[in-house]
Amino acid sequence: MITKTKERKPDKNQKKDVVMDNFFKEFGISDEVYAFAEKQLEDLKPRFEEIDRIAEYNQLKVLKALQESRVSEACLMGTTGYGYDDIGRDRLEEVYSKIFHTEDALVRPQITCGTHALALALMSNLRPGDELLSPVGKPYDTLEKVIGITPHPGSLAEYGITYRQADLLPDGTFDYENIEKSITEKTKLVTIQRSKGYQTRPSFSVSQIGELIDFIRKIKPEVIIMVDNCYGEFTETIEPSDVGADMIVGSLIKNPGGGLAPIGGYIAGRKDCIENAAYRLTSPGLGKEVGASLGVLKDFYQGLFLSPTVTASAEKGAIFAAKLYESLGFDVIPHSDEVRHDIIQSVVLGSEERVVAFCQGIQSASPVDSMSMPYPDDMPGYDSKVIMAAGAFISGSSIELSADAPIREPYAVYFQGGLTWPHAKYGILRATEELYTRGLIELPQF
Ligand SMILES: *Cc1c(COP(=O)(O)O)cnc(C)c1O
Repeated sequence: MITKTKERKPDKNQKKDVVMDNFFKEFGISDEVYAFAEKQLEDLKPRFEEIDRIAEYNQLKVLKALQESRVSEACLMGTTGYGYDDIGRDRLEEVYSKIFHTEDALVRPQITCGTHALALALMSNLRPGDELLSPVGKPYDTLEKVIGITPHPGSLAEYGITYRQADLLPDGTFDYENIEKSITEKTKLVTIQRSKGYQTRPSFSVSQIGELIDFIRKIKPEVIIMVDNCYGEFTETIEPSDVGADMIVGSLIKNPGGGLAPIGGYIAGRKDCIENAAYRLTSPGLGKEVGASLGVLKDFYQGLFLSPTVTASAEKGAIFAAKLYESLGFDVIPHSDEVRHDIIQSVVLGSEERVVAFCQGIQSASPVDSMSMPYPDDMPGYDSKVIMAAGAFISGSSIELSADAPIREPYAVYFQGGLTWPHAKYGILRATEELYTRGLIELPQF
């Protein structure tokens, strides 16, 4: 049958094809900021393709694990009370161990956050008289009280577990000589932090971590090696557990929760290490057998399924921010053309006004609490005022678009997250618009 198509007359009321235009203008982005940003984006195409390629691989890796573990609709339900025979919980732990190629995993809503997961892994695998070593310098801030670097009730130090640290060399590489000296007969566990967190050192690639693990193993084969994997998951095609780590540890309100997990942490690794962690999380004798999953399993599964592309979106946002601000002459870590091993971007904005404008711009681009206005304020645990921008569906989730900055030299803002690339992009445009309209940056003209 042949159908005749009527020729359409141009509709005078029809809107112009906004896609080709600065439709961002409707959403408060000026032509100047838009033109500048689009120009920078052109150069990022090959980078973005690389990231998409990694996301494709990881998407299939996750899918294969879900299929091989025969995840069924019943797995999405969950239990109450003791949580005996929670097949969804047990199957999810199997999925994690398949993805990370580990013997076992503990993935629980009862692990309240990343710090808790790390503390759990440490406290359950160390005994009085043992020593913990960090061969990569100072660990993440919140671990100082866990370890007892800052004295605190319940710290490892209180239980007679000592701590030693080998700092990185000034260029951010491993100080092998010092590391070798720091490994003694007491050294029981080595902790390696993959992401720089909020320090200025570089983040480590999985292969760099692998080299460090090989070096340590040659000196002391039986030592337990743990990697703080926070912010690193799915940024590469391999994970630290693929290069010899005995345990990898992370938070579900970062990458592997895909923005959907409302709480939780994971530890994946050697069977005996996971068993120790489970006995500590619940109780000796109970271990993994108890721990009701309540109603979170669907979000844990679905978030994990989305995580590779969510992580890719956040990475694109980070690279875009790096590119814009390095083009404007600011120091950025890492640079837009550097290989990335996590989703954190720092931009040294150089003044309080700029830091505040940036964070307020991010806040105004948020899906939740966009009407709130963040200001610098005192925060427990910080020695200067801090400003934090976050309008997230999950409170405190840093896989969602967020930015924060301590108000002190060199006035660096730490930016991360973005559940979708268009949202990450818009957030950065809003922040830039805020700096521009307040006269805090000058834009090149196109
Ligand atoms: C976020 C983070 C932590 C702590 O996680 P919380 O969920 O904030 O407790 C530890 N280490 C690194 C590298 C992190 O990025």
